[in-house]
Amino acid sequence: MKIHEYQAKEILRRYGVNVPAGIACFSVAAAVQAAEKLGGDKWVVKAQIYAGGRGKAGGVKLAKSIEEVRQFAEAMLFSSLVTHQTGPQGRIVHRLYIEQGVAIHHEYYLALVVDRASQCVSLIASEAGGVDIEQVAAETPDKIHKIMIDPLKGLNPQDAGNIVTRINLPESCRPEAIVMLDALYRAFDENDTSLLEINPMILTPGNRLIALDAKMNFDDNALFRHPDIAALRDPDEEDPLEVEASKHGLSYIPLDGDIACLVNGAGLAMATMDIIKLYGGNPANFLDVGGGATAEKVTEAFKLMLRNPGLRAILVNIFGGIMRCDVIAEGVVAAAREVGLAVPLIVRLEGTNMELGKKILADSGLTIIPASNMADAARKAVDAAARFRSEAVTREV
Ligand code: GDP
Ligand code: MN
Repeated sequence: MKIHEYQAKEILRRYGVNVPAGIACFSVAAAVQAAEKLGGDKWVVKAQIYAGGRGKAGGVKLAKSIEEVRQFAEAMLFSSLVTHQTGPQGRIVHRLYIEQGVAIHHEYYLALVVDRASQCVSLIASEAGGVDIEQVAAETPDKIHKIMIDPLKGLNPQDAGNIVTRINLPESCRPEAIVMLDALYRAFDENDTSLLEINPMILTPGNRLIALDAKMNFDDNALFRHPDIAALRDPDEEDPLEVEASKHGLSYIPLDGDIACLVNGAGLAMATMDIIKLYGGNPANFLDVGGGATAEKVTEAFKLMLRNPGLRAILVNIFGGIMRCDVIAEGVVAAAREVGLAVPLIVRLEGTNMELGKKILADSGLTIIPASNMADAARKAVDAAARFRSEAVTREV
């Protein structure tokens, strides 16, 4: 799960990390009031979306007057912000963060991220932080330093000292930086964070270290331990289809292909997507209906898949273990009837009560293309999708 920058800063503030004073707002009037309340003579108006790259896309603006705060807020709020991380459709800005402007002497990069391969937390730091960090990583990777932290031992002060030396922090700030790294590590560790990124971490002309931006992602599987963080979920920022799917206990991820797949089990769902690709097709989604799918759940899954306007075939691939094939078959028939299915439907059933399941499908009177194994199913789905496409072309002509 992701959260907004202002929420991440609030968490970091509790751990003693320096962050600028700021106020989150939902309207232009509130943005103006926030700037007045914060005082000073410089403010930063920041679009709050779950994507980075805002600075280069006009989503971070330095205002030198209250009037400018109003203008920037007006331009940003409810606009669609397209950054290199949002995709071409962009993201609608529903929230703004108004911060006191800070003078920057130098921008550093700091991140903590779970490194699965080494089962450690990787601390990444660079003296070349800021909006061009991707370019730095690509062109001058030697400017990026990394140390591995054993999560059972935590961050030791020697390693922290080492890294602040390698990024050439002025000597006078190193003790403060080591304390800050310790706070960042605790914030990371205690909240089951999967990524904590501060870019930039700045040094002010007065030699203060401030986290000017903050990004925190959390391990979904540990959210039950952090109801306060789970409560920060912003539905505006999530894919409406994924939100709808999770309400029905379905794991659904839309993709850009045209063959929808309905599968039980995440591993089988991955394998199904792979085999569709192998036969030259493109999966339209990942969908795991789970172990205990009911006819209702299968119907909901069909409705989700059918919201994709580019759909050309549906492949149902079920391995009946705990899940019985007859239950799935009943669900598929009920769903196909309810939604008035127009695209070809390919079904492969294997396992418990498979014969009964196949009979239910055959007796349903629906045009269902049965498949005998995964390869057969994938081949038939790819063929059916191609035929459906050419028929569509013929219909248009
Ligand atoms: P991102 O582009 O989405 O990562 O947004 P950031 O919060 O990192 O802001 C982008 C850039 O705006 C930063 O790298 C800074 O150079 C600049 N910026 C952000 N806040 C301030 C500020 O308070 N003062 C100044 N001078 N620049 C700022
Ligand atoms: Mn940033």
